[in-house]
Amino acid sequence: MTMRSKLMVGNWKMNGSLAANASLLSDILAGMAGVTCRAAVCSPFVYLPQLQVLLAGSSVASGAQDVSMHESGAFTGEVSASMLRDFGVRFAIVGHSERRQYHGETDAQVAAKAQRALAAGITPIVCVGESLVEREAGQTEAVVKRQLAAVIHANGHCISEIVVAYEPVWAIGTGRTATPEMAQQVHAVLRSQLQAATAHADRVSILYGGSMNAANAAELLAQPDVDGGLIGGAALKGPDFLCMLQAAS
Ligand code: PGA
Repeated sequence: MTMRSKLMVGNWKMNGSLAANASLLSDILAGMAGVTCRAAVCSPFVYLPQLQVLLAGSSVASGAQDVSMHESGAFTGEVSASMLRDFGVRFAIVGHSERRQYHGETDAQVAAKAQRALAAGITPIVCVGESLVEREAGQTEAVVKRQLAAVIHANGHCISEIVVAYEPVWAIGTGRTATPEMAQQVHAVLRSQLQAATAHADRVSILYGGSMNAANAAELLAQPDVDGGLIGGAALKGPDFLCMLQAAS
């Protein structure tokens, strides 16, 4: 058994509006009785001040979906970790496959972003995951280990402060979920990689992401190294997200 309490994180991606967020958050907050897992939602940057107000005093934390690898200065359009901190942000997703794929983010940049977040007291949720082509070529383990190795290398003894999210790219937004066994297999690989880097690897939450929903969450969360979820589509529906929070509690 582990000492890690489950962590469930909604990744809203580029969805929402002031009105829709208010309604979703009020549904979630109204259903938190009995929820004992840790919970967070990651909104677009512009809505983080709204989250700060609406989640104040609740057990739901706020998170960003990215963070700059730079501290400050002439980086038009970027948002720094210390700016996120100003708005009470607790988590920042880094290296999501959509950032890697559409914005060309490299392993080194993802590692630098994780470093900036940690330095500002924000927990980076470091995403790793293979594409379908990579899985079919038997490269899953090599790919996720390479992605995590960059973050371990850049962050040294702080590595036990990160959260890892295993998100097979072929499972994201496709309705095609990894089986619990597939998820556990990769999570175990990531856990042993962390164990080689820190004596505190047991503290690191390794989340699964990729079409997790109210129907499949419980069996994924039952795996020994699946410590929670990073949830996209199903986190936009209050009842579904609450059902997953219950499954993790
Ligand atoms: P999904 O997205 O749950 O919609 O598959 C997960 C993610 O990309 O974080």
